[in-house]
Amino acid sequence: MNTYLNTGIELAYLTSAALFILGIKKLGSPATARQGNFLAAGGMLIAIIATLLNQSVLNYELILVGIIAGSLIGAIAAQKVAMTDMPQMVGIFNGVGGAASALVAVGEFWRILNTEGTVPLDATFIAILGVLIGGVTLTGSLLAFAKLQGLVSGSPVTFPFQQPFNALLLASFLAGSVYLLIQPENLAIFLTLTVISLIFGALFVLPIGGGDMPVVISLLNSFSGLAASAVGFILYNNMLIVAGALVGASGLILTQIMCKAMNRPLTNVLFGAFGGDSSAVGGADGTQIDKTYRSIDSEEGAMMLGYARSVVIVPGYGMAVAQAQHGVRELASQLENMGVKVKYAIHPVAGRMPGHMNVLLAEANVPYDRLYDMDDINSEFDHIDVALVIGANDVVNPAARNDSSSPIYGMPILDVDKAQQAIVIKRSMRTGFAGVDNELFYKDKTTMLFGSAQDVISKLVSEVKQL
Ligand code: NDP
Repeated sequence: MNTYLNTGIELAYLTSAALFILGIKKLGSPATARQGNFLAAGGMLIAIIATLLNQSVLNYELILVGIIAGSLIGAIAAQKVAMTDMPQMVGIFNGVGGAASALVAVGEFWRILNTEGTVPLDATFIAILGVLIGGVTLTGSLLAFAKLQGLVSGSPVTFPFQQPFNALLLASFLAGSVYLLIQPENLAIFLTLTVISLIFGALFVLPIGGGDMPVVISLLNSFSGLAASAVGFILYNNMLIVAGALVGASGLILTQIMCKAMNRPLTNVLFGAFGGDSSAVGGADGTQIDKTYRSIDSEEGAMMLGYARSVVIVPGYGMAVAQAQHGVRELASQLENMGVKVKYAIHPVAGRMPGHMNVLLAEANVPYDRLYDMDDINSEFDHIDVALVIGANDVVNPAARNDSSSPIYGMPILDVDKAQQAIVIKRSMRTGFAGVDNELFYKDKTTMLFGSAQDVISKLVSEVKQL
């Protein structure tokens, strides 16, 4: 009977793994993402039911309390958390996942030690790995959450002798691990290693700027998967091993995609204390600037847009901050009613999280087929009458193409400077995330339309209606 049950559980796990992979595949396109989410959630449900059928479950009441509490928190969070706060939410989820893995590693080490008097070499090794990755993920994710939520300062934090201190901590961890592998009966050393791992997590995230937190969260997401996988080996649970490996791999791939789109190696994100002084350049706020630029008002802007044949809207972080996406959709519909062909150009790292612009525009019901990836739209810019840049800066900075001394040199950009005309909506001449001046703003074909995106867009909508 037991053999049949175990085979059934393993088959259920296989089905879940297939559903997870199919779900991830479908998450690759906005049109199938919802379906992908349902498939993966279905896979998780099957995995949970199969695990509950396992004969070694000791206490169903406690598990039920956990399921009810977790489901309630999940349901409330899904309703309440704003789309723009998703990175924080994922951060917290990673932290909880890391904590669960670290707790299982500690619990199993403790249990084996108590029942057998010693812990085998392989179990000790995996338990050390479990607390290391789980501990780093827990405190690292909590700090990343606090930075993004503004609970602690988002600026990179450094302190004297930081590197020697980190090196000392690492040396202690390695020495403690070797000692434990030889003397696995020493619980005190194991718990000390757990505490060091927790300190590591905080020290890892502390020197990284708030703007880079999405990359860090994606990396920690990958860590949480690896921690779960390690724990799967301790518990001999194939589902945990496979699901953890999937999370580990997808988190790593996303981290790599983000770094590539910013043209910055991961080491620069982790150790570069990147993020510029956003007040470096003057302009509409009255400070000095030696280059000239042209500014227009919303009436002139509306005329340029209304009489164009084709307009490409380029959204960026400023549109997200101003929550201008609904107005943008209204403006686009108005222009389309007047016969203007409107497309949206999406840069992979516009905003502050992967898919930031897609999520906001989808929330405003912009049809998916109007959104064009950078690679698909760049060749069209030279035929476009007006490129309307809304709160984007780094992702349209031609210095990334032309200026080898620029910190963003090599980052792929949207070729807005090739359009016949460009209108840039922002509040001043200040720089964006990378802290570098943007030569696009000073080009003859570019006009600046100063103001907060939401105000400017609503003025444009009413002006366009009067044309
Ligand atoms: P940027 O940060 O380069 O620029 C945003 C611009 O928006 C600013 O120059 C600002 O100018 C303007 N702005 C701010 N508030 C408003 C407002 N209320 N109304 C109108 N404009 C406003 O944004 P981009 O989207 O162009 O580039 C994203 C940057 O973030 C890139 O450097 C990318 O590498 C980085 N990054 C992206 C991640 C991602 O996953 N997407 C992750 C980590 C980093 P002003 O103050 O004058 O208004």
